[in-house]
Amino acid sequence: MSRVYDVAIVGSGIVGLGAAYAAATRGQRVIVIDRASEPMGSTVRNFGHLCIGAQAGVAREYADASRPLWLQLSRDAGFWLRESGTLVVARHDDELRLLEAAARDGGIELLDADDIERRTPVRARIAVGGAHVAPDLQTDPRAAGPAIRAHLASLGVEFLLRTSVGRVTAGLVQTSRGDIHAGLVVVAVNHDVDQLLPDLAEAVGVQRCGLDMLRVRADIPALTAPLLTGWSLVRYGRFAALPEVAVLRERLHDERPDLAAIDINQMYTQLPDGSFIVGDTHARGAGIPPFQSEAASDLMLEEFRGLFGVSPRVVERWQGIYATGPDEFLVAEPESDLVVLAATTGIGMTTGLGLAETTLAPRLGTRLMSHADAVPHREGTLR
Ligand SMILES: Cc1cc2nc3c(=O)[nH]c(=O)nc-3n(C[C@H](O)[C@H](O)[C@H](O)COP(=O)(O)OP(=O)(O)OC[C@H]3O[C@@H](n4cnc5c(N)ncnc54)[C@H](O)[C@@H]3O)c2cc1C
Repeated sequence: MSRVYDVAIVGSGIVGLGAAYAAATRGQRVIVIDRASEPMGSTVRNFGHLCIGAQAGVAREYADASRPLWLQLSRDAGFWLRESGTLVVARHDDELRLLEAAARDGGIELLDADDIERRTPVRARIAVGGAHVAPDLQTDPRAAGPAIRAHLASLGVEFLLRTSVGRVTAGLVQTSRGDIHAGLVVVAVNHDVDQLLPDLAEAVGVQRCGLDMLRVRADIPALTAPLLTGWSLVRYGRFAALPEVAVLRERLHDERPDLAAIDINQMYTQLPDGSFIVGDTHARGAGIPPFQSEAASDLMLEEFRGLFGVSPRVVERWQGIYATGPDEFLVAEPESDLVVLAATTGIGMTTGLGLAETTLAPRLGTRLMSHADAVPHREGTLR
């Protein structure tokens, strides 16, 4: 097999799908290659939290660029997405101080304790206040990726699945089903960049971050938006950049070294079927052991009980891995017309569509068509 395309994309997670969307809506002949038969990567393993308002700098630019793409794709591809914003519960004054400082830049509405009790299922008198981060969205990660993939296929994007890529160079993708030639090659393989392009990954310090996740059922009122805690505030760029974060981080680490040791991001989303995604732990390294500690799960469940006052029932556990590095994004062109894209922190679902659009638009030109009037080059295929 030898084929020729305008754009060949390795990886069909949200970044690869974003690249395919950017190219297909500009009239390019596009192929996406993935070794998996179904979406299996980070893009289906996350919270579905499109955490736009908590980002800063270039992450905020990519997040803002992603927002209209998410809205458009949810309409066109027909998957669940809500403009819920994000709720933050503050359980301590230092969390409130940080939220107040961040709110000065807009897009964050401060809430008092009564508001938080009314708007979330947290236990009575546990909150001292909180906030609503307005621009944020929520989707179901298990539905969004497959729906976008099917939509792109309907626009004429070809998908070559169960096909491993062994080598990429300018203009050429060598796969387990033969060579693919393309004017532009986009590599969007997340942490696996350390296998496909190990020299690049080493040069920019990309490693892996492993996360333990739970899905639970619990008899509590609905979560109308993703819910963050102080443990989330210390990690997201907009909050983490503020001087007020230092006091909060120190207190959290002093009070709960056990949670600090698993590098918890205590946060929750509720899926359309009523179950809750509970997370999450973080461990970084060149390789991530597959053995998930039950002690870490116990801590996450204990924190759930502490916040909501009921014992959840675990229905699923899984591990996720994403690329991590000293910078928030990997945008590289190791050879001309070979572009490598990755979110190298845990915000790729929020930023991935915008990362692809922003990076590729200057090469691909103006959109020739919106998804609505896109004319397929040929029947799209899912193989
Ligand atoms: C547990 C967890 C929770 C998270 N929560 C959030 C969240 O709520 N909000 C948020 O914004 N972000 C979140 N993230 C981060 C986000 O999910 C990722 O940053 C994003 O999904 C990465 O997308 P991707 O397309 O780069 O990678 P992936 O979705 O992992 O896709 C990469 C694809 O490349 C394919 N591939 C790799 N190597 C090859 C090869 N050699 N040949 C062929 N195919 C190959 C893989 O099969 C895979 O399908 C979370 C991540 C995890 C793991």
